Amino acid sequence: RVWNFSAGPAALPEEVLRQAAEEMLDWHGAGMGVMEMSHRGKEFVAIAEAAEADLRELLAVPANYRILFMQGGAIAENAIIPMNLLGDKVVADYVLTGSWSVKSYKEARKYGQMNVAASAEATGFTAVPAMCDWQLSADPAYVFTCTNETIGGVEYPFEPDLAQIGRGEVPVVADMSSHILSRVIDVSKYGLIFGGAQKNIGPAGLTIVIVREDLLGRAMALCPSAFDYRTVAEAGSMYNTPPTYAIYIAGLVFQWLKRQGGVAAMEARNVAKARLLYDYLDGSGFYESRVDPACRSRMNVPFFLKDESLNDAFLSGAKEAGLVQLKGHKSVGGMRASIYNAMPIEGVAALVDYMKAFAARHG
Ligand code: PLP
Repeated sequence: RVWNFSAGPAALPEEVLRQAAEEMLDWHGAGMGVMEMSHRGKEFVAIAEAAEADLRELLAVPANYRILFMQGGAIAENAIIPMNLLGDKVVADYVLTGSWSVKSYKEARKYGQMNVAASAEATGFTAVPAMCDWQLSADPAYVFTCTNETIGGVEYPFEPDLAQIGRGEVPVVADMSSHILSRVIDVSKYGLIFGGAQKNIGPAGLTIVIVREDLLGRAMALCPSAFDYRTVAEAGSMYNTPPTYAIYIAGLVFQWLKRQGGVAAMEARNVAKARLLYDYLDGSGFYESRVDPACRSRMNVPFFLKDESLNDAFLSGAKEAGLVQLKGHKSVGGMRASIYNAMPIEGVAALVDYMKAFAARHG
């Protein structure tokens, strides 16, 4: 297997893939694979309940939050969130830190009046505006954040706890698609956390939503039933047929995470992985990171060769060395290494070794 630095769908733990392969034809003596099971049968219900319980344990999700397994990806949530959370309010606030939060803001404007509470656009989206500079509106339904911008490689260096600016009553919504489970978070600081699974959790097709119970039951009349959080919660995420195989794989990833020591242990590894790569970038003189050092993502590391005419040679040499999916997003250019939970430090070390050798050849 190659070292796969894709931003998503992304590498999964090899142990998980091996277990899934072993269970493909016959899950635990059921005589069938998980893909073939009724979502209402006792085998699959047990799989889904275990996945939910393990996720709850890993993130220490308080009892007054519901975990929903949905479909549509994070992009569908950009519409589903205002449809569910605006309630009787007319305004919601958005903090713009890069491509994904901007996209969320634009979509939400179809459903209500959206206020930009803060924007890092003036920095070229290379930083997170400090909370003391957020201009919340008088009575917003929620404040939307994207706590890790996958494309720009910008991650919040703080939890957006509105109590710190005297607005603790406003629910914070966070798109955590690309760093959920990579670091310890305090779920109680958020009204709603969501993310597509295909980066740090499992296969595409599954969207995770963690929502505080008091935010259920406010959906607009036009909200599709399958996207009404209360309907989904009341049906135990089985109002419609859920993405059963993706839930099963996510469950295996959650068990793998517990065997690794849980989220705190993963965070320590992620800190070490990111430090290895950023320290090399900063010291090299041949490559550079353009993100504010205080807001650099531990999961998505965009970087540039100072001589961009070498980009193609860098990528083709990397591929030969078994290092793939390093090309940066087209809106940013350069390179990007996504180093999610499933990427061991050996993969990051292999990348740094290759970067050193390439710099020595071309420097
Ligand atoms: N939000 C973030 C932070 C992302 O990284 C992505 C990645 O694709 C999306 C939203 C869009 O997710 P999806 O393609 O699952 O709708």
